[in-house]
Amino acid sequence: MSVDASLRARAAKVIPGGMYGHLNAVLHGDRYPQFFVRAEGARQWDADGREYVDLMCSWGPMIVGHREPRVEAAAAAQQASGDCLNGPGPVMVELAELLVDLIPSADWAMFSKNGTDATTQALMVARAATGRTKVLVAHGAYHGADPWCTPGLSGVTPNQRADTIEFTYNDLASAEAAAAEADGDVAAILVTPFKHDSFEDQEPADAAFARGVRALADRLGAALVIDDVRAGWRLDLRGSWEPLGVRPDLTAWSKAMANGFPIAALTGADALRGAAQTLYSTGSFWFSATAMAAAKATIEILRESDGPALMHRAGTRLREGLAAQAAAHGFVVRQTGPVQVPWLSFEGDDTLEKGIHWAGACLEEGVYLHPWHNWFLSAAHTDEEIDRALQGTDAAFAKLRAAYGAD
Ligand code: PMP
Repeated sequence: MSVDASLRARAAKVIPGGMYGHLNAVLHGDRYPQFFVRAEGARQWDADGREYVDLMCSWGPMIVGHREPRVEAAAAAQQASGDCLNGPGPVMVELAELLVDLIPSADWAMFSKNGTDATTQALMVARAATGRTKVLVAHGAYHGADPWCTPGLSGVTPNQRADTIEFTYNDLASAEAAAAEADGDVAAILVTPFKHDSFEDQEPADAAFARGVRALADRLGAALVIDDVRAGWRLDLRGSWEPLGVRPDLTAWSKAMANGFPIAALTGADALRGAAQTLYSTGSFWFSATAMAAAKATIEILRESDGPALMHRAGTRLREGLAAQAAAHGFVVRQTGPVQVPWLSFEGDDTLEKGIHWAGACLEEGVYLHPWHNWFLSAAHTDEEIDRALQGTDAAFAKLRAAYGAD
């Protein structure tokens, strides 16, 4: 029995379902390992010692390379002098100063642990500021796992969902209709910077839609909140809609902010500072200094090295390589999303059967990517790492062709 199988058998006895949430390997196809033991740079090793070029980056958090020395040193130095203390360390102020300096829409920052903390906190600030109840969210968008937003409805009451009204991403008329349905009671419009829903092709934000939701929020007197938890730090360090010239009132950040150390942030504009100050919002570990030190180092590295440009280069190399391979093997594929947060799907593969087969073959060939969730590139994905990944994906296309024939 493999180490992974034996751990799963033990887990099944002491952990509900053996694993829960979207990292449950059962959801990823038969060949996915559940347990991992080590990572370095752009590589990860599973519990059976199999090595992968990591194109998931731990589902987003890793951004400058696993165990990046400067981040690890900053975290270790902080850890050595104290992590979870009676109050935050000076590093909390330094990190907030860094975010306010870097992000044009940010006049202040609050810290927590997970993306869901930050999106939930954003809605609380918006509600506190407006005295209103409803929030407009795009159908199918993921904003976290609290009752108001979890995609699974088990354990959730209808009341906990009653204050969100859905619209269709990139469809301004539907956002306006959702606002009309709320009849003036809109606290916030919450959007991701592009459409990155699971199980489907990704879609860039239409510039007119982005400007339109900004104008709609202004007209309603509601807050425009960008959920940059997934895309943040990969596309543009100033915020993912900055290139479109659309500035949010509030932004939720997490995932890649500290290269794997646990931290999230909510940043906001001056107009919402007073409301933010009124919240009762806290957690036992929210002010731990180690993750803040790691965040500071991660963001400084990204800034000094132009991390998004490095990831763009890596992602472009990957996308071009995959396109050439798919064509050579006779497959019609679609590659969607920004190259730093890519995904590949097969034409006509509505059930994702081919995609699951191909992703499983990639695993066998030492490349960890995903059949129904976007992948993540990092600054540690050098040309050599991308070329190593492409060796594996090429062999996986050959296996897919042997199993299914060309398109
Ligand atoms: N928003 C988005 C866009 C996300 O991708 C995620 C995490 N996948 C979240 C919010 C929630 O973050 P967390 O899992 O850290 O609570």
